[in-house]
Amino acid sequence: MYIVQIASECAPVIKAGGLGDVVYGLSRELELRGHTIELILPMYDCMRYDHIWGLHIAYQDLWVPWYGGAIHCSVYCGWVHGRLCFFIQPHSQDKFFNQGRYYGCVDDNIRFAFFSKAALEFLLQSNKRPDVIHCHDWQTGLVPVLLFEMYQYQGMENQRVCYTIHNFKHQGMGGSDVLWATGLNREEYYFHYDRLRDNFNPFALNFMKGGIVYSNYVTTVSPHHAWEARCTEIGYGLGHTLHLHQAKFTGVLNGIDHDVWNPENDRYVPHSYTKDDLTGKAKNKQALRERLLLRDRDRPLICFIGRLDEQKGVHLVHHAIYHALSRSAQFVLLGSATEAGINDHFWHEKQFLNDNPDVHMELGFDEELSHLIYAGADFIIVPSNYEPCGLTQMIGLRYGTVPIVRGVGGLVNTVFDRDYDETHLPEERNGYVFYETDYVALESAMDRALDLWYDNPGAFQQFQWQGMNCDYSWNYPGKDYLEIYDRIRHK
Ligand code: ADP
Repeated sequence: MYIVQIASECAPVIKAGGLGDVVYGLSRELELRGHTIELILPMYDCMRYDHIWGLHIAYQDLWVPWYGGAIHCSVYCGWVHGRLCFFIQPHSQDKFFNQGRYYGCVDDNIRFAFFSKAALEFLLQSNKRPDVIHCHDWQTGLVPVLLFEMYQYQGMENQRVCYTIHNFKHQGMGGSDVLWATGLNREEYYFHYDRLRDNFNPFALNFMKGGIVYSNYVTTVSPHHAWEARCTEIGYGLGHTLHLHQAKFTGVLNGIDHDVWNPENDRYVPHSYTKDDLTGKAKNKQALRERLLLRDRDRPLICFIGRLDEQKGVHLVHHAIYHALSRSAQFVLLGSATEAGINDHFWHEKQFLNDNPDVHMELGFDEELSHLIYAGADFIIVPSNYEPCGLTQMIGLRYGTVPIVRGVGGLVNTVFDRDYDETHLPEERNGYVFYETDYVALESAMDRALDLWYDNPGAFQQFQWQGMNCDYSWNYPGKDYLEIYDRIRHK
């Protein structure tokens, strides 16, 4: 099968969070299974060019219709760790992807509307006719709209679209300017409730809703989150749309790339180890302490790795630090915040705890350091308010780092409580789960985890081993996506 993924991220060249990991990991898995995969990405000025091999111009003159005229683009081509990627570079005063960041620009909706249009225009003009176009999140929600309202009449009538939603919170809103810019025009038609009109704001077009309505198949990133999105407020207003389209909507659990995340040969980790011999992990804990100037003492080490965002339950992250200290444990936090209030809060906290030899807070994005933390910590805490899938708990499991999580979204599908899970045998359980968002719930799960570490090292090690036995690779999701592609291709 010939599959083209259109996305705003692909790790490690463009990574703001899990989306980048998923786009890369799924592509790799599909290619290993013998399919042809290409990726279309924006050419951001701030992406990691050092992760692209053989970057060259593939298409010099791509003219993308935009408002009444057209924008001249170049399309570059290169390999990102073996995956063939096309990068779209517009030559425009609008500086679409030259603003020093991936997201958070005032014109985000127009930037990604342009990207969606440019990606399809590139496929059309370069005569690429994939069997399936797989696009992701609000940034590419307009791809199926444009395909089925315009491009299918220009020679792309056999292409099918699978649309994956990684985060319902960000849906991409625009006004009629988006319609005029992309050439969709017909305001009355698109501002209809059955098409792109936002379910709550009658004056806004909702890109993600467009993606759901127009795609041949829609997925989100875990089965439990698919239910949450359809039946609870976690769908951020799209529950009814998902309900109407439920026949083509399911949850497919993300995987993690077992080559990138592998304690047996991780180039960022000084000591390799396996589930049967955790000596290397103990040495990594030592190395982590040395690197972060933590006190050298035989104590449990808890970590948090992730975006510092409301979604991630920042009030519980904050509390977890102090509770860990009160139990004589150590804590390492690696996180970056985009919201000023949260950012200020954690900088303040960092200064406050600066002299404490049992805590280190690294505020920023550091891929390399994240590997060492996964390898060196005993526990990883994921107290999210909501979590569509969550990769950090799966990566933690792979590195023998026991997850302590809140039971929401994909965390429900991947972490099974050591003491209370009734659906899994004791030998299949792999972490600690709490449900409420208050401190008592968090503390009780942390206490159960720390008690095991302090009181029964043998049982703790056995538990690490059980976690490392879990297979959250792309093997199963890869198969699931191929089945979906096959189904929509033959419709
Ligand atoms: P989300 O997509 O909501 O950000 P996920 O758990 O799905 O969260 O994916 C997070 C990914 O980003 C993981 O690979 C994690 O290791 C990585 N990550 C998050 N924050 C950082 C950071 N500050 N530094 C390095 N890696 C990070």
